[in-house]
Amino acid sequence: MGRVTTQALALRRTPFGETSQIAEFLTRSEGRISLIIKGVHRERSRKGGSVDLLDECVVTYWSRRNSRAMPQLSERRVTSHHPGMRRRRDLLLAGQYLVELLRSVVPEGQRVPGVFELSSAYLAALDGGPEPAALPTVVFALEGAMLRMAGFEPVLDRCVACGRRPQGHRVVRCDPQQGGIVCSACRDGERGTFDLSSVAAETILRLAGQDPRRMTQTILPPDTARDVRRFFDRTFVHLLERRPRCLLLPFEFNAAESRGAREPART
Ligand SMILES: [Zn+2]
Repeated sequence: MGRVTTQALALRRTPFGETSQIAEFLTRSEGRISLIIKGVHRERSRKGGSVDLLDECVVTYWSRRNSRAMPQLSERRVTSHHPGMRRRRDLLLAGQYLVELLRSVVPEGQRVPGVFELSSAYLAALDGGPEPAALPTVVFALEGAMLRMAGFEPVLDRCVACGRRPQGHRVVRCDPQQGGIVCSACRDGERGTFDLSSVAAETILRLAGQDPRRMTQTILPPDTARDVRRFFDRTFVHLLERRPRCLLLPFEFNAAESRGAREPART
């Protein structure tokens, strides 16, 4: 049995019996884990009361190797409640989008300290209250870095099949199935592919290496933002095999587009 104390980010909670909760955390040292919290509603509990989603905290629990029983939380101290993020609906939705991405691309129990750092930086960026026009840039920085860390880094500076670099193209063709852009010689039909402006491709590559906290003043031209949004939208739909639930919510242009040409109305 080992005592573990680690920084953690609350991703989910579910009631368990009358007095307990099961909470899921992304932890810095142990990755995504679930802990049982007994007596959660007891006053002045060292377990920090009921878990609020997206709270950052320090948790202590006992981990039993070779045991299938869910570890029990023994202490929890909230270090940030992100009040700035909770004040605005668009920011809170962008926070919930993080939860959805983490639960989709980070396997349980896999140690991913870089993803914890990124998530923490992203929440801090949201908590700082970026103006709505800069919010997409903050989200793009998260999405690009998350793809890279999860092993799905897209190839956007050369053809993913033959390696040829696009020369002087203003628009390239992107194929989520192949994981990047494909030149005309390597294309096998247009099915599932979409156009991406070269400017948007460069923007995606550039933002993926940025700390989201440094992107809170960066406002992209609307055309570029729309292209980048479509890229991540298509890429995550391909990876997750479904549309992330939160994806549509914080971005009006995205919602408008998905009502338009991309998804013809069913008749
Ligand atoms: Zn090619």
